[in-house]
Amino acid sequence: MKMNYLIVGAGLAGLTFANLLAQNENNKILIVEKRHHIGGNAYDSYDENHILIHNYGPHIFHTNNQKVWNYLSQFTKWHDYQHRVLSFVDGQFIPMPITLETINQLYNTNLSQGEMVDFIESQKEKVAQIKSSEDVALSNAGRDIYEKFFMNYTTKQWGVPPSELDPAVISRIPFRFNRDTRYFTDRYQGIPKAGYTKMCEQMIDHPNIKVMLNTDYKEIKAAIDYDTMIYTGPIDYFYDHQFGKLKYRSVHFEMENHDCESFQDTAVVNYPNDYDFTRITEYKKMTGQKALKTTIMKEFPGDGDEPFYPFPTKKWQELYQLYKAKAETETNVIFAGRLAEYRYYNMDAVVDQAMQLFESMPLN
Ligand code: FAD
Ligand code: UDP
Repeated sequence: MKMNYLIVGAGLAGLTFANLLAQNENNKILIVEKRHHIGGNAYDSYDENHILIHNYGPHIFHTNNQKVWNYLSQFTKWHDYQHRVLSFVDGQFIPMPITLETINQLYNTNLSQGEMVDFIESQKEKVAQIKSSEDVALSNAGRDIYEKFFMNYTTKQWGVPPSELDPAVISRIPFRFNRDTRYFTDRYQGIPKAGYTKMCEQMIDHPNIKVMLNTDYKEIKAAIDYDTMIYTGPIDYFYDHQFGKLKYRSVHFEMENHDCESFQDTAVVNYPNDYDFTRITEYKKMTGQKALKTTIMKEFPGDGDEPFYPFPTKKWQELYQLYKAKAETETNVIFAGRLAEYRYYNMDAVVDQAMQLFESMPLN
């Protein structure tokens, strides 16, 4: 079979490449995907109760990047959704991230913004050099808030305490002195109206794009005559783990259908200090779907087989650098996406990076 491009992985990275490459009518593109569906971790589907769920955990699209937003808006309309999260702490459901509302509810106070600044100033710990996620939380908010909202959640999520993790992990969570309780404040935010999978189908609705599901690319690589490979799978697997296996954190998802219209007040509730799961997502609250029953998902982090999160410590970054150096010597392979770049990327960043790599290709 003669193809110009062999794309490994039908997640947002691979699909963005496929879509852009297909703009040139001469390009013949084959996407090979080992799962039974396209969409990668953003895949969603209807469960047996006809509730739309995100099979690999809650996915909220949010970005400040107008180019990415406009690009994806070609393939979907958006359900206008502003993400809000509650965290179950000290027997109460308290807004997360940390805002004035969080502080007032947690301590049963009625502080103004200025008073919150003074209060946090009295709580903060001085950290000479920020080296870990623990340092980030302690220097932003002090020990009590760190222990109640971050320490146990992060330990559950990653299997190690925040003191061992890169500062970038907890830095993902904003810290605010106002009353804005939204999880994200990006300019553009929403959930694809008909779901991520439908959006992804639109991206590759082109006669020059073929998709082969349920297939590991190593099974068919030798049988395909292609010019360039776009690789979005795990980089260590590409090189047969020759420098050793990279560490990934996995998550096991458990769904429950409940015979009630509403299960919880917000789409996501975090449980930092109780249970083995980190959070519960109620999908209808995110997608806006109306139904008499509801489906929830609990997330149990662990060391399972599915590589969800690249492990954010120096040791694994150093190992990744060995693979990266090797990847840079390849002449007909482009590495893109969360797994190939071993980075904790959001969806908008993955699409943006794929668009940029595409634009830098000499002959696309
Ligand atoms: P993936 O989606 O992982 O796609 C890679 C594809 O390659 C997969 O389908 C995989 O099966 C396939 N593949 C791998 N190896 C092979 C092989 N050997 N042969 C063939 N195919 C192969 N981002 C947000 O912006 N907002 C969120 O709210 C959000 N929530 C998240 C929640 C969770 C629990 C997780 C895990 C991630 C979340 N993300 C979120 C991140 C988002 O999922 C990623 O940014 C995005 O899906 C990455 O796209 P990708 O194409 O790089 O990788
Ligand atoms: N986190 C935490 N407490 C929370 C929520 C998040 O300690 O209530 C930490 C945790 O380490 C997590 C990181 O902040 O991995 C980033 O959180 P985010 O909600 O962005 O996680 P994701 O949706 O990527 O799993």
